[in-house]
Amino acid sequence: MSFALTIGGKAVPCADSFAVIDPATGAEFAQCPLASVEQLDQAVAAARAAFPGWAATPIERRAEMIHAFADALAAEADELGALLSREQGKPLRAAVGEIHGAIHWTRTTAGFRPAVERIEQADGGRVEIHRKPLGVVGSITPWNFPVMIAIWHVIPALVAGNTVVQKPSPNTPLATLRVVEIAARHLPAGVWNVVTGDIEIGSGIARHPDIDKVVFTGSTPTGRAIMRDGAANLKRLTLELGGNDAAIVLPDADVEAIAPQIFQYAFGNSGQICAAIKRVYVHDSLHDALAEKVAALAAAAKVGPGADPATQYGPLQNRRQFDYVRSLAEDARARGGRFLAGGEPLDGEGYFFPLSVVVDVTDGNRIVDEEQFGPVLPIVRYSDVEDVLARANASENGLGGSVWSSDIGRAAELAQRLECGTAWVNSHSKISPDVPFGGAKQSGIGVEFGLHGLDEYMQLQTVRLPAGA
Ligand code: NAD
Repeated sequence: MSFALTIGGKAVPCADSFAVIDPATGAEFAQCPLASVEQLDQAVAAARAAFPGWAATPIERRAEMIHAFADALAAEADELGALLSREQGKPLRAAVGEIHGAIHWTRTTAGFRPAVERIEQADGGRVEIHRKPLGVVGSITPWNFPVMIAIWHVIPALVAGNTVVQKPSPNTPLATLRVVEIAARHLPAGVWNVVTGDIEIGSGIARHPDIDKVVFTGSTPTGRAIMRDGAANLKRLTLELGGNDAAIVLPDADVEAIAPQIFQYAFGNSGQICAAIKRVYVHDSLHDALAEKVAALAAAAKVGPGADPATQYGPLQNRRQFDYVRSLAEDARARGGRFLAGGEPLDGEGYFFPLSVVVDVTDGNRIVDEEQFGPVLPIVRYSDVEDVLARANASENGLGGSVWSSDIGRAAELAQRLECGTAWVNSHSKISPDVPFGGAKQSGIGVEFGLHGLDEYMQLQTVRLPAGA
């Protein structure tokens, strides 16, 4: 396997490289080229040079090229999925599913058209509101859904007429390098460039005077650093950051029906989903029954290497996350938490942690207050609905939240009182390419997806015309 940067439409080798680790073994399985700061500058220059031509290309033509790229992704979905599974750790089926999800997102987003709005004025004058691309967009992605999130960032930027310099997480760079290599066959040179590296190149993107906007998905501390670094040229920002989503189960919920769903939305991708259920508050009257059912599902789940067809849940993606999740589980136990499933790392090599359910923990415990981003779910008792709403909202995060009940109207009222960007009733985590998604409070700035998401890649321009125009 050999990999290269894509700059100005060409495969570009690097003098340095770094190891990519297989999370199922903890051992290196490939070398990834490491971009230099000069190569970042070259990528930005290529994107800048490509911008006027791409912005002037009719949107229908841009969309055709993006569809051709989607066709090419579909033709290579199995190979890409295998590479993604190897570097990310998720089961092969889930990795191929991620590629197909990325294709679906690409095609839907390619159908979006920015609106021109018109406002009539009392004096007979007319106002038109146009939307124009921003220029060069820097995209910095995390390691949980490397290909999906790369597509979320780049496709709306391109549809809007911008050009892109992307940097994948150094934990999972390889599938993204392949995706951009494929894109380069279908897009004009310099429209989509990719560089690699960690903080030096990431903050180089955030500081770069010739990048107009940064879209970032990752942790809240890194989001803050990007805001600071981007201030020099007042970069536009879309930040999709951490979450600590609460699910509130009301006393009239149907335990049998909801247990498998709570389980699914908490443990998908081994809990490494920004808007997964990260803490479940269950009314006293249902607490024990629900906790037992979710724990039984967790205990029965098959955790293993992504390449094993029997595997349902893969390892944590990297050593740092594995150590962090383990420390949260240890802290929960030390504070009297009782594990109904899991609780200790699995023996052997690799970053395997079983799906774990812990009860007898509460607010003020790290496992409830912090974002675990891994397969350890706290189930917390409550008795008063107003009190539990306050507890759910007592977080610097505000990505998502959900209310579970047999009374949809009542649940919808409570859902609207959650301080979060998306509130679900009787589900969680569900997203769609045409529905805006973003974080309240310190979970982010701006939204992705749909026409609201497209707007984030465009500058509004108000054109005022005189009466009679
Ligand atoms: P991270 O912040 O450590 O890294 C993300 C990316 O930022 C990587 O590409 C990294 O190289 C780069 N980076 C690191 N320091 C940088 C700096 N100073 N300047 C610029 N770039 C820098 O996050 P992670 O550990 O990869 O991802 C996990 C976190 O991401 C979790 O908190 C999770 O909730 C969040 N996340 C959020 C969403 C969402 O949509 N809100 C989606 C997925 C993940």
